[in-house]
Amino acid sequence: MSAELSRYFDYNATAPITVAARDAWLEAAERHWHNPSSLYREAGAAKRLLEDAREAVAERLGAEPERVIFTSGATEANNAVMAFAARSMPGAGAWISAMEHPSVREPARREFGTEAVAALPVLPETGAVDLAFLDRKIAETEKPALVSVMAANNETGCLQPWAEVAARCREAGIAFHCDAAQWIGKRPAAGMAERADFVTGCAHKFGGPKGVGFLLVPDALVEEFRFLVGGPQENRLRAGTEDLPGILGMLAAWDDKSDDVLAAGEAERRALRDAFETALVERLPGTRIVAPGAERLWNTIMFVVPRHPNLKWLTRLSAAGFAVSTGSACSAGRGNPSHVMEAMGLDYEEMGRVIRASGGWDTTASDWKALLEALVRIGDDLDRGKRDLGGLPGGS
Ligand code: PLP
Repeated sequence: MSAELSRYFDYNATAPITVAARDAWLEAAERHWHNPSSLYREAGAAKRLLEDAREAVAERLGAEPERVIFTSGATEANNAVMAFAARSMPGAGAWISAMEHPSVREPARREFGTEAVAALPVLPETGAVDLAFLDRKIAETEKPALVSVMAANNETGCLQPWAEVAARCREAGIAFHCDAAQWIGKRPAAGMAERADFVTGCAHKFGGPKGVGFLLVPDALVEEFRFLVGGPQENRLRAGTEDLPGILGMLAAWDDKSDDVLAAGEAERRALRDAFETALVERLPGTRIVAPGAERLWNTIMFVVPRHPNLKWLTRLSAAGFAVSTGSACSAGRGNPSHVMEAMGLDYEEMGRVIRASGGWDTTASDWKALLEALVRIGDDLDRGKRDLGGLPGGS
């Protein structure tokens, strides 16, 4: 990792572009800038690269290439699924987990109508969607057009039992969408296509360029799926000239994160995060880890800091050269309670003290250690400031 990025702990927001992705992007932008739909030699070469890329994405997910639609990212893919499901798929509304990203929640509400979108609750201990609730709902309620459960949560990192949800939906004859924006590039992707009908992926979350991603649609819908209409691109499934440099950059970023490589490195990376977590609770008494025992992405930790609002910590961390996040949230200034934190059982006051740190593939033990030391130091400073103002007992 380059020096200026050594203290970057916001990979769930976006990852820096990898060298391979940048090189692939640049080469394609310089050499293959032609419109893949045009009819001369250079355009043909661009078209071949595009279709090779489609095959490569399909292979990684275990799908037929026809199922892959390149998009401008996860937001577009999620909007496309909701718009299509609401307009063209039979069923009563949509069921989505209580911690879906706004790019799933908002289009679901807009397309189906708020009343027709049911939330699947999450168990606060595991941060995972409640499968027993889903079983009851499937048994007792009219079938929805679609169930949508993300693969891994962007704020808590909690892994979702998406394969189990997919199996239940398949058995019940309900279409299943999985927003895998935080999973792909961090965890093995093989088999996703076989289990889920729709899968969303997003390049910049794993070191590809911004503004590019993909959506997998079910085999049965490859003839009729529509979202952006206009030209005949993407086999008529999504109009708009394809961003070939972006797509090739995305693949290059994914190439060095093959399933085997990811699986081999996961335990070691998780151990670094876990060591940070253990030390944090010891060194900063009053800190609470959100869903400590849950299965989480190896890179993510969400915690409630003691006493002072998260923005005070973040401002000081930023000044010390650390990029972390409040989670998307009710951080002061925004005022709205976060639906994810609510689903995790945090109260309103705690939500204002939440910090999320999300590391990357090259984040080292010393990066985590530096963050720990900074947090301890800042905690001291904040307490001292408050004591000086007479707000905390025991000041010297
Ligand atoms: N879905 C999840 C789970 C995400 O974490 C994000 C980004 O934070 C998105 C969707 C939206 O991605 P983008 O803004 O790149 O379209």
